[in-house]
Amino acid sequence: MNIIRYPFLDLAAVNTPLMDRIEKAVASVVRSGRYIGGKECSRFENTLAAITKVPAAVGVSNGLDALRLILRAYILKGDLKPGDEVIVAANTYVASVLAIVDAGLVPVLAEPSEQTLNLDTARLEEYLTTKTRAVMTVHLYGRVCWDNDLREFVTRHNLIVVEDNAQAIGAESDVAGLYGTYMTGGLGHAGAFSFYPTKNIGALGDAGAVATHDTELAAIVKALANYGADRRYHNIYEGFNCRLDPIQAAILNVKLRYLDKECQAREVIASCYNRLIDNKHVVKPEFVAGRGSVWHQYVLMTAERNRFRAYLESNGVQTDVHYATPPHCQPALAHLAHSPLPITEKIADRVVSIPVARHVSETDAAEIAAIINSFD
Ligand SMILES: *Cc1c(COP(=O)(O)O)cnc(C)c1O
Repeated sequence: MNIIRYPFLDLAAVNTPLMDRIEKAVASVVRSGRYIGGKECSRFENTLAAITKVPAAVGVSNGLDALRLILRAYILKGDLKPGDEVIVAANTYVASVLAIVDAGLVPVLAEPSEQTLNLDTARLEEYLTTKTRAVMTVHLYGRVCWDNDLREFVTRHNLIVVEDNAQAIGAESDVAGLYGTYMTGGLGHAGAFSFYPTKNIGALGDAGAVATHDTELAAIVKALANYGADRRYHNIYEGFNCRLDPIQAAILNVKLRYLDKECQAREVIASCYNRLIDNKHVVKPEFVAGRGSVWHQYVLMTAERNRFRAYLESNGVQTDVHYATPPHCQPALAHLAHSPLPITEKIADRVVSIPVARHVSETDAAEIAAIINSFD
C-alpha cells in the first residue's frame, strides 16, 4: 500500500472550513418547520439567476433531472418532438446522453476537438440532418464550449441550445451568448446545473438547477418537477417529483458566496501545472487564462496511462479518469447509431485527471508537477 500524500479529492477538507455557516443554515431550515420549497429555495434560485444573468432559475433534484426537465419542457412547449435529433459531444459524461434518450430524442454523437476536449465546432455541419433541432453544448472539465462557429451554426439552422453546465458554474465565454450574456448556463436557451458534491460548488447530497432566458420554459420546468402541477392539486402535465431539497438549498446559499474564490483557487493550481509540467510522455490541456475555464478537472493526455497512473500512485499522487468509457461504449447505450468516433475513443484511452480542487495547495501542485516531470 502506498501512502496517499496528494489525494485526488478531499471533500471533508473542502467543506469543513464552512462548518459553522453550514450548521447555521441547516438549523434555520429545521427551525422553520417547512421542509419542501420555501425561502432558502427561492433565495437559491434568485442567486443563481443573478450569477448566470438570466431572468429565471428553478432549483431541482440533480443535474440529470435538470437536463431531463429542460428537454421534456421543450417537448411540452412544442419546440421539440420525439425523434428530433440533438447534437452532443461524444466524449461527454453519460448523463448528457441519458437525458436526451429519456426524452425520446435522438442523440447525435459528435467528435470533440483534441485541443479543447469539447465539441469540435468546426465540424458541426457534418452532423446536421433534416431532423436536427437542438445542440446540447457541454462545458466539459469546466471549459466553455461556445464560440463564433457554434453560435453561427445554431443561429443559421434555428436550433435550440441546451447547455450542460454541470462542470462549469462561474465560467465566462469571450463570445456573447444568444441573449448577449456571457456566463455559462445562460449562453443558450436553457442551462442545466449540477451541485453533486464533487462539482466546483457541491451540495452535501444531490442538487441541481435549470437556468433559462425563456420564462415560459421555466414555468413548465417548475410545474413538471412538482407532479406537473401549476398550483396545488391542479396537474396540467404528467409530471415528476424532482424538487430541490431546501436543506441543500440552504447549504448552497452558503457555498455560492464563495464561487469567485473557488474559481480563483482552481485557476492558481491550473496555471501552476501549466507553467511547471514538462514531460514528453504527457500532453497538458490547452491553457485558458481567466474564466474561459473554471478547471473542474485538470486533464492530461498520455499514451501510457496505466504506467503513468501506477507511477503517480507509487509517488503518493492519486489520479482519476474522466472518462474511460464514452457513452456509446456503455452497455446501456450500445444500441445508439453513430458515425465513427476515433477522436472520442483516443481521448477516452488517454485522459487522466490530476488533483485540482480546493484541498490542493500551490506547494502541492509544484510537488505534483515535479513528480510528473520525473516520469520516464
Ligand atoms: C455531474 C454531471 C451531470 C449529472 O449531474 P448529477 O447532479 O450528478 O445528476 C451531467 N452532466 C455532466 C457533464 C456532469 O458532469
